[in-house]
Amino acid sequence: MIVKKEEERSLEIVITEEEINKKVVQLGYLISQDYAQAKELVIIAVLRGSVYFAVDLSRQLTIPFTLDFIGISSYGTSSDPLGIVRITKDLDTNIAQKNVLLIEDIVDTGLTLNYLLKNLRTRNPLSLRVCTFLDMPGRRIAAVPVDYRGFEMSDMFVVGYGLDYNERYRNLKVIAVLK
Ligand code: 5GP
Repeated sequence: MIVKKEEERSLEIVITEEEINKKVVQLGYLISQDYAQAKELVIIAVLRGSVYFAVDLSRQLTIPFTLDFIGISSYGTSSDPLGIVRITKDLDTNIAQKNVLLIEDIVDTGLTLNYLLKNLRTRNPLSLRVCTFLDMPGRRIAAVPVDYRGFEMSDMFVVGYGLDYNERYRNLKVIAVLK
């Protein structure tokens, strides 16, 4: 279904708002169960793409946690990343001996996540898991662990629900492909 036309580009919905909301509830339930006995859970949202997902997901959690953010800048563009990552905003939390759940918008080549995990492991968390909204395993260059995933996707460039194209479309309530 073609829904919108902006600057000659149409958006074709591939995941609806309803499907997203349902998935976020399911993931929130699962994570709440898995961490029910865990102390000191720190949820880390990766700026900026994962913010929409992280906020929605965190509201579904029934367990205590603290929320922190890490900002990264990847060289290349969102449609053509080079895998060179720089931290632009570090955590405010000391995660040593804490249970850490890293929230990603999408794991595509895995290069960004690989960098982040290596960096976070040097800080000696008690545990470190990954929850990504979208997973594109067919595009992987770096082998990275994904503990929770919203949707597995085939190779396509998508926008919405935090994901941008030149900083646009983050606020779409759906996941869409730019036509
Ligand atoms: P990686 O390739 O390192 O796994 O992903 C790097 C970053 O590129 C992601 O965090 C995301 O910001 C961006 N990215 C990768 N695939 C897509 C996509 O299909 N759409 C958008 N908007 N960004 C993507």
